[in-house]
Amino acid sequence: MYKINNLPYEYKAFEPVIDELTMKIHHDKHHQTYCDKLNSTLEKYPELVNRSVEDLLSNLSSLPTTTQTAVRNFGGGYVNHNLFWEILRPAQIENSPSNLLLEKIKQDFGSFIDFKKKFTDQALGLFGSGWVWLVLTQDNKLNIQLTLNQDSPLSLGLKPLLAIDVWEHAYYLKYQNRRSDYLEAIWSLINWSKVEEFYQLASVA
Ligand code: MN
Repeated sequence: MYKINNLPYEYKAFEPVIDELTMKIHHDKHHQTYCDKLNSTLEKYPELVNRSVEDLLSNLSSLPTTTQTAVRNFGGGYVNHNLFWEILRPAQIENSPSNLLLEKIKQDFGSFIDFKKKFTDQALGLFGSGWVWLVLTQDNKLNIQLTLNQDSPLSLGLKPLLAIDVWEHAYYLKYQNRRSDYLEAIWSLINWSKVEEFYQLASVA
């Protein structure tokens, strides 16, 4: 049985960038529902219970066809949000990656500013609901990847390092249609040391 962790900060910790009610509904209702539906999906397939959800998402085509869509949606929703909560922290004024990851960003995107611009442009261009990711590719390059709905980069053979949720449930109460304001503000919440940790793990794996 999968469970969602309590947030490692208060629901109001991201005010005014993300409001308390949005955090509460997002974590306690949306994320919890993905987790519950993942559990009820797996209940019907005892042979899948011993495999990690990351393994299932990385190998969707190995699953019974009748359960692929449910694992993709609910398993994806479960792990995507786990990562999202981890790579956020209360706002920092000067917030940017350090050393190792910054060098890699410069190498693969030109500069940190270029990276942010490219990431934001992709997020603004995403039609409907989905996620924008910083990923590490199989040939060890950083890249920006969009996924629709709750699709996981794991299903594309990519290692997720940073995720921004661009479903309206992530920002609508405060920002309504102003996705660009949400995207601009959320940079102050990124926990770059956590992203760097994921980068180091992914690059040695
Ligand atoms: Mn979400």
